[in-house]
Amino acid sequence: MHHVNLTAAADAKFQERLAKASGQDVKQCYQCGKCTAGCPIAYAMDEPPNRIMRMLQLGLKDEVLDSKAIWLCSTCATCTTRCPKNIDVAGVMDSLRVMAKQEGRTRALRSIDLFNDIFLGSVRKYGRVHEFGVGMGHNLRMGKLLKDVDIGTGLMTKGRMKLFPSKIKGQGEIARIFNEVYKLEEAE
Ligand code: SF4
Ligand code: SF4
Repeated sequence: MHHVNLTAAADAKFQERLAKASGQDVKQCYQCGKCTAGCPIAYAMDEPPNRIMRMLQLGLKDEVLDSKAIWLCSTCATCTTRCPKNIDVAGVMDSLRVMAKQEGRTRALRSIDLFNDIFLGSVRKYGRVHEFGVGMGHNLRMGKLLKDVDIGTGLMTKGRMKLFPSKIKGQGEIARIFNEVYKLEEAE
């Protein structure tokens, strides 16, 4: 956890955008900490979920969008199910990732952002993830071609990972869903 400048001016526009995008009222958070207590990734985050919520109440846009926490969140939704104020904390984290990406603020954890893009690209193209393609694509883009190659080889030898991709039957429908979501994002 690092020092946060609590005297920075609140960014009201950011707060409004987040409320609209997530459909959540973060002002309802009363800092009970149950989200953080249940979060399996909190130990690795620079700011745990309850602090992210407090920073949002204070309108600290830069601190939140530049945090690693929003990229480390695995969307497991434990926080959401635990929140006594019924705030969809996982949904808020998701909206924050989208906003950070729209503003090109992905330096905090470039590797995760890249993995996210390649993973979604694979699902859009094949209707499911082609693990080998995702792994190799990520390694290539990160300049680490041989990373985890031993694990990949082991999985392929046991038939748990396929060298070539194949499309599922409803791939066209999946691609259509992606296209509709992208259109909605562009219209925002
Ligand atoms: S959704 Fe994210 S913030 Fe919430 S408990 Fe899971 S990892 Fe933590
Ligand atoms: S569980 Fe809900 S009310 Fe409690 S700190 Fe987290 S977001 Fe706030």
